[in-house]
Amino acid sequence: MSDLIAVLTQAIGAEHVLTGADASEKAQGWSRLGAPLAVVRPASTEDVSRVVRICHAAGQPVVAWGGKTGLVEGANADGAIALSLERMHTIEEIDVSGGTVTVGAGCTLQALCEAVEEKGLFFPLDLGARGSATIGGNIATNAGGNRVLRYGMIREQVLGLEAVLADGTILSSLNHLIKNNAGYDLKQLFIGSEGTLGIVTRAVLRLRPRPAAQSVALLATDSFDRLPRLLRRFEKDLGGALSAFEVMWADFYALVTTPPAHGTAPLAHGHPFYILVEALGADESLSERFETVLGDALDAGDASDAVIAKSQGERNRIWALRDDVAQVARNAPIFTFDVSLRLSAMETYVAQVKADLAERWPAATCIVFGHLGDGNLHVIVGVGDRSRETRTAVEHIVYGALKPSNGSISAEHGVGLEKRAYLSWTRNEGEIALMRTLKRAMDPGNILNPGKVFEMNGE
Ligand code: ZN
Repeated sequence: MSDLIAVLTQAIGAEHVLTGADASEKAQGWSRLGAPLAVVRPASTEDVSRVVRICHAAGQPVVAWGGKTGLVEGANADGAIALSLERMHTIEEIDVSGGTVTVGAGCTLQALCEAVEEKGLFFPLDLGARGSATIGGNIATNAGGNRVLRYGMIREQVLGLEAVLADGTILSSLNHLIKNNAGYDLKQLFIGSEGTLGIVTRAVLRLRPRPAAQSVALLATDSFDRLPRLLRRFEKDLGGALSAFEVMWADFYALVTTPPAHGTAPLAHGHPFYILVEALGADESLSERFETVLGDALDAGDASDAVIAKSQGERNRIWALRDDVAQVARNAPIFTFDVSLRLSAMETYVAQVKADLAERWPAATCIVFGHLGDGNLHVIVGVGDRSRETRTAVEHIVYGALKPSNGSISAEHGVGLEKRAYLSWTRNEGEIALMRTLKRAMDPGNILNPGKVFEMNGE
């Protein structure tokens, strides 16, 4: 046993320092996690501090692990100590009158949502990985998902947090106040920085009242230019109740409504775009209003066809279509992307990507869907192989087409290792230089998730 492993074992107990086959068994996730030296499982912030202090002294890289559902190799721990927060899942306090929850970083998103719902409250973050993704991982990656349009990304829900810095220092910033302009807002350093500046251990999150009414409809429309009009119509006429505006291009809709998918088609095939619209409100008057707005959209020709869910079962079935992203793997092998761009640039962008792919690979598939209300598209490309060269060629097409409209290479998945080479396609030199300055100041030894987002060596 190496000295480092022996010291870690002494610090947090042998049963929580996994090596060899036990460590590889844990290294299974939605993107590559590499071969960690060991997987350590601290039980408390003090444990995390102890582990990081030991690694800091040894110059040993540490990579925090949450639910391991990231898609960009942001948690790749090859040769590193993987620090899993799975034991730190306690929901410590739900403050009903204050509308906050204090929670350990290892709590899953779903467990948190269910616990606050029991108290009549609502945590609005929602994404496909909800059952495994953890709050700590959601914060480290600034998770987005299905209801950003109304509530913002998790950044908007975090009031305070506690983090362990690169030298093991515990930074406790468990603010409960909605307004607190006393100096720098330090929590922002840890939100979306992918574990490169500190390890989030606990958080205070903002809660909302649980909406008593939910309306969901599926719409079809026949031209792209109707989509922004529909979006603005629902935003305006629903008076702020619009909570999701998810668009499925025809080929995505076809995949999720034909076997082997379990879903069936609530609207006939043959339209180019299908839209899931959701509104959340306080009472049953919502459904009346929702029907009126939908009727207006049909009358105006913005929607060609529509169906309103009449029961919770129907609402769930429509959402399940949008959530059944696994169907895109039928075109395997695939590359997945999450780009962000202005609505006005979207139609040209998708046409450009499809044309560029078809020119190089005539049989290429390109499935598009996403959070259109947020300007966030998921683009799934299949060209028959997954070699490094092919990946690079596809990336150049998908990211290159963003350049004319200054779109972003990542709307919500982050950069990790996968998009590192393209950071400068979205962020300018000055922005990247300041990112490096922050990294150098907060982690001079470059031990926290090194190499993710950007490289520090060879600048
Ligand atoms: Zn998404």
